[in-house]
Amino acid sequence: MVNYRDRAWLEVNLDSLRHNAIVLQEIMYENCKLMAVVKADAYGHGGERVACFLNKIGINSFAVATIDEGIALRKSGVMGDILILGYTDLKRARELEEYRLIQTLMGYDYAKDLNEAGFNIETHIKIDTGMHRLGMDKDNVERIVEIFSFKHLNVSGIYTHLSVSDSREREDIEFTQRQIDAFYRLLEELENRKVKIPKIHIQSSYGLLNYPEIRCDYARIGIALYGVLSEIEDNTKLKPDLRPVLSLKSKLVTIRDIKIGESVGYARAFIAERDSRIGVIPIGYGDGIPRNLSCGNESVLINGYKVPIIGRICMDQLMVDITDIPQVKVGDTVVFVGKSGDKEISITEMAHNGNTITNEILSRLGSRLNRIYISLDQGQ
Ligand SMILES: *Cc1c(COP(=O)(O)O)cnc(C)c1O
Repeated sequence: MVNYRDRAWLEVNLDSLRHNAIVLQEIMYENCKLMAVVKADAYGHGGERVACFLNKIGINSFAVATIDEGIALRKSGVMGDILILGYTDLKRARELEEYRLIQTLMGYDYAKDLNEAGFNIETHIKIDTGMHRLGMDKDNVERIVEIFSFKHLNVSGIYTHLSVSDSREREDIEFTQRQIDAFYRLLEELENRKVKIPKIHIQSSYGLLNYPEIRCDYARIGIALYGVLSEIEDNTKLKPDLRPVLSLKSKLVTIRDIKIGESVGYARAFIAERDSRIGVIPIGYGDGIPRNLSCGNESVLINGYKVPIIGRICMDQLMVDITDIPQVKVGDTVVFVGKSGDKEISITEMAHNGNTITNEILSRLGSRLNRIYISLDQGQ
């Protein structure tokens, strides 16, 4: 795909990405390293490009959700550790070895079967301390010990995942503390049974921002690396100076004048209450703009003015009311996320208006959008 600003595009600011990586590394416990979570195409920022860039500035540890994401990174030249957080079909064990990917062991039977596949595979054991999604039960010590002796599996890490680390409510903090304590108790148990403890990791973004004191070898950082939080109202213990990496833009391709009483778009969901000027923008829910932002639930920025989306968002187009913008013309840039004049719209705001979280919006910004990488630093 040609990377120009022809229809609708994402601007990925690599300087901000580098800045975030540095400030996040600074708040980590000593010797803890950033594991960059680049699943779902690096939360829409472009997995290969983002991982290669981070690799170049010294990050050597990555996490993805699927084997194909991992293979794509290897093929684009990413060095260092690549951990697959999710399930990999046993039929693909050979590729885990071939591409030197680290597979999460999410259960005893899975580990046993993977060992029996006969390929030499690096693994991290996942421990369920209360999330009850993936992982071996924290109390199943015997079985966990056994996995360390499996001939073909090199267990280089052990980790858990926190379920409410974003919350500052007392009850949730207590729950999280119990998860953390249970994990460390398990590690002690393992040590008592002569297991050499591999690398450990617990925190994702909120885990780091709210529990920075936890001692680990890695923190698995996704959303914060991209410079945003999941929800507008989120309040974290630490508030590092994170900078949004992504902007989302398009342009006006048609301007039309309609009379009072005329309608715009499907279902005639917008009826003009005055003579109006309507702008048509070639981006829609097919590009990842949530359809529930239709009918005034979201605004966009044009030439520093904030104007509402009107009518129903279509798959490939949407319409805005530009009656109040002077001197607007076809070709003017439309900002969905980012700055225009002295105004700014954050992706967190868009997620809020769309009744979801930033993570979902980012990961759904589809393959149809061009990505343009921006860096003022030379040599990138
Ligand atoms: C996605 C994911 C992360 C990253 O979470 P963020 O909140 O985006 O930092 C960390 N750990 C696991 C297991 C994940 O699935």
